[in-house]
Amino acid sequence: MPTPASQPDRLAGLTSPAGLATLADLEAAIVACRACPRLVEWRERAAREKVARFRHWTYWGRPVPGYGDPGARLVVLGLAPAAHGGNRTGRVFTGDRSGDVLFAAMHRAGLSNQPTSVSADDGLRLQGAWVAAAVRCAPPANRPLPAERDRCLPFLVRELQLLPDARVLVALGAFGWDGALRALGVLGHAVRPLPRFGHGAEARIGPWTLVGCYHPSQQNTFTGRLTPGMLDDVLARACALAGLQGAPSAGAAGAAVARAGRAADAHTGESAKEV
Ligand code: SF4
Repeated sequence: MPTPASQPDRLAGLTSPAGLATLADLEAAIVACRACPRLVEWRERAAREKVARFRHWTYWGRPVPGYGDPGARLVVLGLAPAAHGGNRTGRVFTGDRSGDVLFAAMHRAGLSNQPTSVSADDGLRLQGAWVAAAVRCAPPANRPLPAERDRCLPFLVRELQLLPDARVLVALGAFGWDGALRALGVLGHAVRPLPRFGHGAEARIGPWTLVGCYHPSQQNTFTGRLTPGMLDDVLARACALAGLQGAPSAGAAGAAVARAGRAADAHTGESAKEV
């Protein structure tokens, strides 16, 4: 495993054409990264100390790379792995409540072969989609520092370059939205004036379309701020933009609730908050 001192050179090469050539190369670089001392300490401590319900697991305890179909036309971008979710299982959004909600919706949208995502060897396969996090290591309190966000950004930039068919980015939460804009800016696309995050917001950025979605966090799903129908609507729209023939939304029953929720958001002006 490389030392922290070796990392700057590797990161510096990420955005150049001579950088990492394949998704496999990128994954290897991400998994070996130790560039953020605070996050390295946190992810490894969580892996050592565990939580009672997962005490028999051997935690991954390393950065979590993106996952999905190399021919993806649609990229779902989250914030960062959860300490006892992706940091435990080694696969993004796998093994936590947010992932349960997200992958169930992706299955309803025809983007995966199964509705569950519980471990790296559970047989999940994505179709036409890729899932990644803007920051690859689990952060304390789910809050990466700006310097950590910036340090990790080249991984996302390179990932988008290595997904040549992808043109739609679904940003989960304002942090994912911000990360997507930063990455697209590095790729040379005009991102100003900065489009505002909101659930269902859309922005054309160069050849990409960015679509906003409330994060499927426990807080948002338990409170009904994000319903399955709302998630289905966003994924159905993203699939249409990406030219994917996804399955019809199975969240139709929730659509009326979703519309009511959005109407409430419009009324209260809360849709632009980080959620
Ligand atoms: S957050 Fe990103 S840059 Fe920082 S240690 Fe993890 S993988 Fe490396």
